[in-house]
Amino acid sequence: MISADLLRRLRNELPMAVTIAALGRQGPPSKISEGYLRFLCPRCGEMLATVNPRNNLAHCFCCRKNLNNIDLLLTEGHDFRSAVALLEGLLKQYEARQANQPPRSDDR
Ligand SMILES: [Zn+2]
Repeated sequence: MISADLLRRLRNELPMAVTIAALGRQGPPSKISEGYLRFLCPRCGEMLATVNPRNNLAHCFCCRKNLNNIDLLLTEGHDFRSAVALLEGLLKQYEARQANQPPRSDDR
C-alpha cells in the first residue's frame, strides 16, 4: 500500500538533483547552468527542464510542462510501483546522509 504521505515526501523531500544523479545513465542528460540544474525534457527533448529548488519541481521552458520525481521516472519508462520503490530507496539513502552531516550555514 502506497500512502499519500509517502508520495508527498517523494515529491517534496528528495531533491530532483539527487534523483537525477542517482539515475546516472538511466536518467536524462543534465547539466548545471546559471546555478540551476537543467536536464533533457523527456516530453519535448530540449535541455530546458529546470529544477526549481523552492518547490522541487522541474519546469520545462520549452514545452512548459512541470515534472516531479515521480513524473520523471514514469517518463523514463518505470511503472508507478517501481518508480515509488526506487524513489523510496533514494529518499532513505538521502535522509541517512543528511542525518550524518551538520547543517550547512546556507541552509534555510
Ligand atoms: Zn519540454
